[in-house]
Amino acid sequence: MRPLAHSGTRAIPSIRHQITRIRGQFSNSSNSSTISSSMSLTRPLRLLLLGAPGSGKGTQTSRLLAKFPSIHALSSGDILRSQVALGTQLGKEASQYINNGGLVPDTTMVSLITDQLKQSQWLNNHTSWTLDGFPRTAQQAVALDEVLDKSGVGINLVVELDVDQKVILDRIEARWIHAASNRIYNLDYNPPKVPFKDDVTGEPLVKRKDDTAEVFQKRLDTYNDQLRGLKAFYKEKGVLHTVAGNTSDIIYPKLEELILEKFS
Ligand code: ATP
Ligand code: MG
Repeated sequence: MRPLAHSGTRAIPSIRHQITRIRGQFSNSSNSSTISSSMSLTRPLRLLLLGAPGSGKGTQTSRLLAKFPSIHALSSGDILRSQVALGTQLGKEASQYINNGGLVPDTTMVSLITDQLKQSQWLNNHTSWTLDGFPRTAQQAVALDEVLDKSGVGINLVVELDVDQKVILDRIEARWIHAASNRIYNLDYNPPKVPFKDDVTGEPLVKRKDDTAEVFQKRLDTYNDQLRGLKAFYKEKGVLHTVAGNTSDIIYPKLEELILEKFS
């Protein structure tokens, strides 16, 4: 398929809006202990979370933002889904790839995300941020690295969330989301207060179109295909770590400890 035309960042919801949405996702988390005391970092964190679809990257990000208010976050999947919801040209073209469990072309993703990083003025040595879902191929990692290098910054922590893929498949069947906020629910271990309704707005929850068994398997396969190259790239840079566990409650404390050890 041909690469998508980049529709320009004007059509992209502002980063502040994205951040608010991601912070808002935390409000339905079952683990309230993490919001009890916020912490600060002494060194800027530029984190990439790697993990299979459904491994909990969004959940971990929300918890990090609640604990470390100075961290900003960007999720490529959330940005793409906003584009789809807005009906932009980019959204229309991206949805073909998303609905099939394939990847949006590298050139599109690189300009979409690096434009956002530049516009948000995050490319300096005092802003902490975390990326979820980008880079997702070795080519995207190389291209991002070139952009970051020009600003004298680089990804300084990559954490692979290692979750048993059999566990993930069960989890996805039970995953429902609130489309407008991207709040994530799991009917088994993080259910909404009222069945199938968002806790904050009361609006109906929906399934992601790409969370069907067939498309999800394709997404997992795509992730596994790309993982080796991505990990090799960041291992070479000495920033790669792995945190294993089959629930977000097991993974989160390990992730937080790693960040505190290196950046506070
Ligand atoms: P989950 O949100 O459950 O962790 P995921 O990581 O597969 O799963 P998203 O990151 O939300 O899901 O991405 C959804 C879809 O958006 C992907 O399947 C892909 O089609 C597209 N996409 C997101 N980020 C990228 C990227 N960096 N490069 C190419 N395509 C992307
Ligand atoms: Mg996600």
